[in-house]
Amino acid sequence: MQRGPMNFTTLLKELNLEGSHKGQRVQGLHEAERYLNQFGFLKYEDSNNLENDEALELAIKTYQTFYQLAFTGKLDSNTVKQMTIPHCGLPDFNLLMNLLYLSKASLLLLIQLLAIQSGSFTNAKRMPEFSKSLKDVDESQKGQRVQGLREVKHYLNKYGYLNYEDSNNFEEDEFDEALEVAIKTYQTFFHLKVTGKLDTDTIKKMSMPRCGVADIINGSLTHPQFTFLRGEPKWPYYKRHLQYAIVSSAIPNVNLTEVKKACSLAFGEWARFSDFRFEFTDYVGHADLILGFHRGDHGDGHAFDGRDGALAHAFPPTNGRLHFDADEIWSDSSYRVRSNQVDLVGIAMHEIGHLLGLDHSRDELAIMFPGIAKGEFKRSLSSDDRDGLLTLYSS
Ligand SMILES: [Zn+2]
Ligand SMILES: [Zn+2]
Repeated sequence: MQRGPMNFTTLLKELNLEGSHKGQRVQGLHEAERYLNQFGFLKYEDSNNLENDEALELAIKTYQTFYQLAFTGKLDSNTVKQMTIPHCGLPDFNLLMNLLYLSKASLLLLIQLLAIQSGSFTNAKRMPEFSKSLKDVDESQKGQRVQGLREVKHYLNKYGYLNYEDSNNFEEDEFDEALEVAIKTYQTFFHLKVTGKLDTDTIKKMSMPRCGVADIINGSLTHPQFTFLRGEPKWPYYKRHLQYAIVSSAIPNVNLTEVKKACSLAFGEWARFSDFRFEFTDYVGHADLILGFHRGDHGDGHAFDGRDGALAHAFPPTNGRLHFDADEIWSDSSYRVRSNQVDLVGIAMHEIGHLLGLDHSRDELAIMFPGIAKGEFKRSLSSDDRDGLLTLYSS
């Protein structure tokens, strides 16, 4: 059988990556890098770098903030444990990017929703972040002293990227080590080239309007929770009745009757909280959505990886394809998920969220949270899932 690109979960258990940190070279790190890259945390310009280098440390920190783990930058035991939990096959880390790609209308709606939820949202009206343009600090780097850097420090501090132990330097226009680290973290979070310099792209990003809530508080990423797929694709207003068919290229451990029941439960939950209606059809030609089980490389450029690791994936509106990994041990539709099984209903619900245009949420209660442990059970939409769909389809 053609195996997928990797099975990181098994590898992690076999290899001793635990506790490895920057500057070390440990067998298996390459796999950790591929894992972080697959799920959107690590972006190498050049993929030759196989050492546990700075980019990897930043990727681990980003991963840790996403999953609200201690912010160590090391592959500590909690981080490795989180990585071994089976996972939706789509990347997690579009959330901050997504915020920047939102249309103005939905950004405002998002801000209002967040304000209601948190009660602590800062004034949504935009205050200028910088007293003048950032032109003067353009291309500045470590060791330099440039007027205006103080304001950049305040900006990075406000959004959680910069924490001075000793605040003496904070009011200075000096480009020091702490500022360089903060800029690298900022660049990583916004998928910019990680230069550690205030280059033009970084300055451009800092000058853009943004949500007023910090991205990192005490080492944890904050809002937003729900996110939309890049470019905010969604079903057109006249498409609220969607028909689905089941077409598989591989046979899973559950029979078709159970698969149909599980899908019907999963669609039913989304229908309960939206204007969407979903109906099973035997006629593939009529179907808007096509669900099925597949194994390994199945021809869409997103090969599955055998048991564990990625469990399923789905394509954005209006593509309509949803694939389950046939190599997993799936539960049936009953309210009993054994400790070695993954919940078919819950994963179907999660992937249907993608079919409708939602991306991953950081809210652990949300169906759109990307990780789910075996034997774990989550079959109702959280308020975060519902708000996400409402926001997406109300603009
Ligand atoms: Zn997902
Ligand atoms: Zn696929």
